[in-house]
Amino acid sequence: MEVETKRCRYCGKELPLSEFYKLKITKDGHQSYCRECMNTYSRIRYKRIISFGGKQMLRLRDMRSRYYHKKKAKQDENKS
Ligand SMILES: [Zn+2]
Repeated sequence: MEVETKRCRYCGKELPLSEFYKLKITKDGHQSYCRECMNTYSRIRYKRIISFGGKQMLRLRDMRSRYYHKKKAKQDENKS
C-alpha cells in the first residue's frame, strides 16, 4: 500500500499524511503544515491558523482533552 504524502507549506518537506494534523475543512482533510511545524510555530502562526479555520480545530482539541480528563478521573475513581 502506498503512503499518501503531502508537502508541508512551512518546511517544504514531503511527509506522510499521518504527519499532518487532520482538518476536515481543507481539500485533503489535513493541515497545510506538518505536526512539527505546527508545534514549533503554533504561537507565531496562531493568527494565521485561525484564519483558515483552525478555530474549530482548537475548540475540538479542547473538548477532547476535557473529555479525556473526565474519563481519566472516572478510571481513577474505579481503581480506588
Ligand atoms: Zn513542516
